[in-house]
Amino acid sequence: MLFPQLGDRVASVRARIDAAVKRGGHGQAVVIVAVTKTHGPDTVRAAWAAGLTEIGENKVQEALGKMEHVTEPVRWHLIGHLQRNKVKSLDRFALFHALDSARLADAANRLGEERQRPLDVFVQVNPAGEETKGGFPVSEIEREAARLSGSKGLRVTGAMTIARLGAGEAELRRTFAAVRETRRLLTDAGHPATELSMGMSDDFEIAIEEGATMVRLGSILFGARDQ
Ligand SMILES: *Cc1c(COP(=O)(O)O)cnc(C)c1O
Repeated sequence: MLFPQLGDRVASVRARIDAAVKRGGHGQAVVIVAVTKTHGPDTVRAAWAAGLTEIGENKVQEALGKMEHVTEPVRWHLIGHLQRNKVKSLDRFALFHALDSARLADAANRLGEERQRPLDVFVQVNPAGEETKGGFPVSEIEREAARLSGSKGLRVTGAMTIARLGAGEAELRRTFAAVRETRRLLTDAGHPATELSMGMSDDFEIAIEEGATMVRLGSILFGARDQ
């Protein structure tokens, strides 16, 4: 067995999630997106066997390669940046978490219109304005939400963020709370935005206390990665 302890790890993470929901007081349901990047298809199968149905990958090429070898009906999430010339591959994913520019949004919208079924996407928010990271600053969300409100090829169902590496608790809370507020801007513009994709292995409890509905967990489930 690839991960003999995975069932126990999942149970312990779920208990921590439940406790964080109680502390936060938002009363939300929380979905685990199991991040299998750098791992092989066996890891995806092990995740499925442990009851994890949502699988997250950050690189499209790596994900497409893995899909060839997985017959279990997992739902694939693309959680990393996508180049505009690869937008067609979004057809293979249940959910795209990283809509990080207006041009990418327009390309994704065209794909959704062409296939006559909207793509489910989250707008990526970059509250700290980090240059190395994609996403819209909070100050641009209202305008982008209005601009996308007529996009028939997209269903904007939430907001996503990646907190700054090394951020302390106070900054994490500010970041996650700011992204929670952007969800309201999305719904005010008519989008069916119910989800908040925020929180990773090191900060998921704080994210949940601030309202996260999806946590993207890799190393806490599958161990440290080399890369
Ligand atoms: C790798 C990755 C994760 C998971 O990171 P861990 O710290 O291993 O939980 C979550 N979100 C994104 C966008 C990632 O690239």
